Amino acid sequence: MLTVENISKSFGNIKAVDSISFTLRPGEVVGILGPNGAGKTTTLRIVAGLIAPDEGRVIFYNQMQTLPSRQFKKSLGYLLENNPLYLEMMVIEFLDFIAGCRGMTKQERKRKIRQAVASTGLSSVLFQSLRELSKGYRQRVGLAQAILSEPDLLILDEPTEGLDPNQRREIHTLIKSIGKNRTVILSTHVLPEVQEVCDRVIVIHQGKKVADGKVDDLAASFQDQKIITIGTTAQVAKEQWLQITGVEEVTAEEKVKNGFLYKLKANNTGTDLRLILFNWAKQNNVDLFELHQQELNLDDLFRKLTTAEK
Ligand code: ATP
Repeated sequence: MLTVENISKSFGNIKAVDSISFTLRPGEVVGILGPNGAGKTTTLRIVAGLIAPDEGRVIFYNQMQTLPSRQFKKSLGYLLENNPLYLEMMVIEFLDFIAGCRGMTKQERKRKIRQAVASTGLSSVLFQSLRELSKGYRQRVGLAQAILSEPDLLILDEPTEGLDPNQRREIHTLIKSIGKNRTVILSTHVLPEVQEVCDRVIVIHQGKKVADGKVDDLAASFQDQKIITIGTTAQVAKEQWLQITGVEEVTAEEKVKNGFLYKLKANNTGTDLRLILFNWAKQNNVDLFELHQQELNLDDLFRKLTTAEK
């Protein structure tokens, strides 16, 4: 549906987006995950045709987006970061105003507003001013305006930023239901959001794409990398560790009060390295004061992917 090819964008000497490529398939809900300043908003703005990339291109339904076409704009719904709204308007007024801006006829407006209101659960607040609404409800209004023209592609920039956990959950449910019949790309720096809402995640760090895949697959590939911490009263040479079947790498050595602490990366033979190490210590009269396997989760993966210098 949408192909992003090697897009780059600099602001002065800041490279906000550095040669990012990905494709979006119809019906996918894709999360762009990255820490603050990673380049998420800039990527989304380029995809939406709001700013042009310095290099690279965006192809939508096989048509290149130099200047966004009318047809593309019609197929696109966008919830901007911080969701700017006219707070003095009532919800119904605001949606009617947006529908007018999008050139809808009166009849079309009625039907589409009714649909958007139903999909986002806004019927009880239609005649309240936006200023009176909670942040969660304002976010629903932002989603309603984004889906008003029944877009094929919905772009949501940090849709749950600043919401409390209950409001977050409500917006997640809405996004999942809205995403059932359209493609959604959303940005977030909240990992559980991706796990909860997205089919796929693209991780961005310092403007570069550092991972792209199904959330479960990324987690599984990472969990295969097991790190064992072992404490020995006497020092053990690196070469000795590497001779033990199952030890792929010695990633750290530290002198501590009781002796020495080592971090060993296990290779993927499937055998539990802790058992092998325990037997090795027994056979070689090495006294152990610690032996445990670090359980890695998606948080570790995110930290690992987004803390390294590029
Ligand atoms: P956040 O999660 O904080 O919104 P982000 O991942 O969306 O961050 P971007 O907003 O895309 O990141 O910004 C990427 C980098 O580009 C940042 O260093 C930012 O300061 C810079 N940047 C973005 N827009 C502009 C601009 N219009 N002018 C100058 N620098 C910009």
